Amino acid sequence: MASGRCPRTRRCCSCAEAGPISAGTLAIAPDLALLRLARHRFALILAALVLGGLGTLSVLTYLRARALIEQQTTSRTLPLTSDAVASGIEQELLQPVLASRLMADNKLLESSLSRDQDNSTVLRTLLQRIQQRTNAATAFLVSEATRQYHHSSGVIKTLSPDDPQDDWYQRFVSSGEQLELNIDRDTADPSRRTAFINVRVDDDAGKLLGVTGVGLDIRDLEQMLRRYETTYGVRILLVNSDGRILLASDQSSGQLQQQPLIGAESARILSASDLSLRLGSHGDDLYVRATRIPELDLSLLVLQEQSPEQAAFHQLLIQNLAAALLISVVLIILAQATLGRDQKQLETIARTDKLTGLLNRRQFEHSFADLSQRAERSGSSLAAVVMDIDHFKRVNDTHGHPVGDAVLRHVSHRIASQVRESDPLFRWGGEEFLLLLFGCDQRMALERLEAIRADLRAHPLERGQLQLPVTLSFGLTLHRPGESSAALVQRADAALYTAKREGRDRICSLDPGNDGNTP
Ligand code: GH3
Ligand code: MG
Ligand code: MG
Repeated sequence: MASGRCPRTRRCCSCAEAGPISAGTLAIAPDLALLRLARHRFALILAALVLGGLGTLSVLTYLRARALIEQQTTSRTLPLTSDAVASGIEQELLQPVLASRLMADNKLLESSLSRDQDNSTVLRTLLQRIQQRTNAATAFLVSEATRQYHHSSGVIKTLSPDDPQDDWYQRFVSSGEQLELNIDRDTADPSRRTAFINVRVDDDAGKLLGVTGVGLDIRDLEQMLRRYETTYGVRILLVNSDGRILLASDQSSGQLQQQPLIGAESARILSASDLSLRLGSHGDDLYVRATRIPELDLSLLVLQEQSPEQAAFHQLLIQNLAAALLISVVLIILAQATLGRDQKQLETIARTDKLTGLLNRRQFEHSFADLSQRAERSGSSLAAVVMDIDHFKRVNDTHGHPVGDAVLRHVSHRIASQVRESDPLFRWGGEEFLLLLFGCDQRMALERLEAIRADLRAHPLERGQLQLPVTLSFGLTLHRPGESSAALVQRADAALYTAKREGRDRICSLDPGNDGNTP
């Protein structure tokens, strides 16, 4: 039913009583929402590409550098170090080994051992001289016949099968070896560990006469190994054919078989004359170079853990990956900020009218869909108002288009000042506006529209000397549950038509059930 006549109420009230629609709830068009989604996706893809690209590059560079270092270590650094250490050890032991061999071949010593007379004084003098010449810590001779232990200071004991300290003698003579290097407590001074070069003394018929040799202060040898360790950054082990660690740059001892990582490879290491190995897993690598010293029946092991270059490259890889991650995050933030700003401008352009800054007709459908659903859900009313400037053509014709534009902007501004921020106001056509009032029943809506009329009356457009009063005609109606936007606007238009027809500058309303055809 139509209201019948156009009410010209002067009352003023506020739709705010109905509770404001929360700000910023303006529904955005699905295509704009899609644009937002595309923006997030673009930023993510960009970041993933950068992260993937930089990450792959870092990993590939690292793997290549690692392979080069590995090759350099196994084929150059380690063999060179090993050769240097081996020649250092040989140099240190060469003179004592030579002296021990000469002692074993010494006919005087041989005949002293084969005769039954007491020759301890002769032997003492001989051992003293050898000790001095070779600069050794000790020189010794054990007679197989008497088991007497001759030393530069005389006979110091007779070896006993019950004394574990004397086990070395039996072990060596029964090994069948001609020469060995053995680290043991010195019989002459048990507090001191000595590197003994033991050599068999046989007569011409090959019968065992005893064992002779010199002993070297182990500290000199250990110091030498430590020097190599600090110079080359490697660990050095000197191992006998059974795998017993005789000397180590880090003082370790025991069996090679029990050493971590290399223990499992001990059989290969001990049997090889020259061998390069890489053991362990990535990041925990151990490079091994094993060289045999046949003169001493020993194996020299040079061990290098992860090289400093490798550790540096590993650290660089982690830094590169962290940098790639950081760059990606920064990129996401920058892309989001830049694209977000551009998109906001785009969204504003897409849904507002350039001249007045009001929402445009394109945005109406989304706002309507949103508000009508909310109204139905909450049982609130939703009022729609179409407003048209009266005799606007005359303004244009009389004062020109720029003044017409100014009127449009002025009217937009005045209407907006009288409604809540959350009430969407659209520029509907040339000089037509559409307003949706959520939570406003007919009475509240009328009060709002009267307020607009009063405000417009109080504020004519002022342009220099020119004072231009502007009036509006209003067509008001309420939304019916389930009703389309077209039907709603059509009814509001019909109400506006009535307002125009009845003299303009007035508000006409049509009941929701009325299509406006009935006066
Ligand atoms: P009525 O009271 O019956 O509404 O009369 P009216 O003159 O306001 O209505 P009419 O439809 O005859 O004229 C509307 C005019 O608005 C015609 C058109 O040139 C003008 N117009 C439409 N858009 C713009 C615009 O953006 N700027 C200006 N300056 N004029 C516009
Ligand atoms: Mg008009
Ligand atoms: Mg018009």
